[in-house]
Amino acid sequence: MSESLAEHECRCVICEHAYPRSRLTKHHLVPKSRNGKETVLTCRDCHRQIHALFREKELERQYGTLELLLAAEALQSWITWIRKRQPRARLRVHTSHRKRRR
Ligand SMILES: [Zn+2]
Ligand SMILES: [Zn+2]
Repeated sequence: MSESLAEHECRCVICEHAYPRSRLTKHHLVPKSRNGKETVLTCRDCHRQIHALFREKELERQYGTLELLLAAEALQSWITWIRKRQPRARLRVHTSHRKRRR
C-alpha cells in the first residue's frame, strides 16, 4: 500500500522492529570520537535511549559489541518494553495524531 514501505526494510538491532532504511540511524558501537568504526542500525527511539543511558566512555569500554550492548543491565527494561510495542513505521503518517501513551 504505502510507497515507502516498499523501500528496503531493515531492522533495528535493539527492538527488532522492521523499518524502512531511511528511518533507521547508525549507532557506533564504539563512539566515533573514540575511533569506533563498527555501526549497527537502530531506530531513533532506541538510539536516543542508548545515549540517554550510557556515556561515550561506557559505550567504549563496556558495550563495544552488539552482544554486550544488548546484554546491558540498564537496557533490559527498555528492550522488553519496546519489543512489545508496535513499530512506529507500521503506522501511516498521521502527524496530527499524537501517539497515545499507556
Ligand atoms: Zn529500535
Ligand atoms: Zn549512537
